[in-house]
Amino acid sequence: MTNNGTAAPSACARYGKGCILALLKRDQGATVKGNEVATTMSIDALHDAVRKAADIVSGSRYLIAFTGAGISADSGMPTFRGEGGLWGSYDERHLELGFFTREPATAWETIRRIFYAFTMDAKPNDAHLCLARWERDGLLRLIVTQNIDGLHGRAGSKAVAEFHGSCDDLVCTRCGGRTPATPELVALRPPRCACGGVYKPGFTFFGEGIPPVAYATSFEAAREADACVVIGSTGSVYPAASIPRLVKSRGGLVVEINPEPSEFTDTISDVFIPLGAADAMRRIDAALAVRRRA
Ligand SMILES: [Zn+2]
Repeated sequence: MTNNGTAAPSACARYGKGCILALLKRDQGATVKGNEVATTMSIDALHDAVRKAADIVSGSRYLIAFTGAGISADSGMPTFRGEGGLWGSYDERHLELGFFTREPATAWETIRRIFYAFTMDAKPNDAHLCLARWERDGLLRLIVTQNIDGLHGRAGSKAVAEFHGSCDDLVCTRCGGRTPATPELVALRPPRCACGGVYKPGFTFFGEGIPPVAYATSFEAAREADACVVIGSTGSVYPAASIPRLVKSRGGLVVEINPEPSEFTDTISDVFIPLGAADAMRRIDAALAVRRRA
C-alpha cells in the first residue's frame, strides 16, 4: 500500500474503513508517491475502475495478460527510447543481425552495457508477482510479454510467451544450442559455445522474426481469451500490439494499466487505470482478495 504521506488515512465513504483507496483520497485527485504517478482521475472514478477491473478478472473464463516495458519500470529497468532512454548513447546498428555477424565482439560490448548491466540484478516487482500468483490460483492462462528482461519467469510465472525473446538465454549462431546467460559467459568477449560458434542473446534483433512458438502461442491464446489485462504497454509496437486488439475484436474485455493514456485507451480499453503497474495490480489484487473472503 502506498500512502502519499500528506493525506490522512480516512474511512472511505463508499467502501468503509478497510478500503485501500481511501488512503489515497486528497481532494478530487490521487497522487502516488512511490512511482511518481499523479492522476487527475477522481477518487470515485478510480474506485470504479479498480472494481470493474476486479469484476473482469474474476468473471473471466480465459484471462491473458499483455505486458510491456512499463511493468518493469518499478523494478528499476531503464527505458530504451524516449527522453533519458538508453539508446541515446549507443548505436542501434549494433543490434542488427548483419553487424552482429560481422563484428560480434563490438556488438557484444554494446549489448552487455545496454541489456545485461541492468537485467542481471533486476528483481520482479508486485505486478510480476501478482500475475505469477494469479496463474497459480488458476485465474490467468498466459502472459504475453514484449519484455526481454526475464522478470516474469523470475517471479515464478510458467506460462509466458516472450514475444521478443529473452536476455536469460544465449543461442549459438553455429549449432543453435541454447544455454543460460550466466555472468561468467556474458563477460567473455564475445561469449562462445563449446562448438566455437559465437553466442547471440536470446532476444529478437532488428530485422529478425518473432520467435515462432511465442508467436503461435500468443495468437492462439488471444483467440481463446475473453479478457486481457494490458500492463505498461503503449500499444505502438506491432505485431505484438495486435494481441489485445484480437481479444477485443472477438468480444473480449480489456483492462488497461498505464500511467498515461496509450494507443489502447480510447480504442479498445473497457477499463483504464492511470497508475503505475505495481500500484494498480496491488489494488486489483486487494479487491479480489476481499471478494474471496466474502
Ligand atoms: Zn554451438
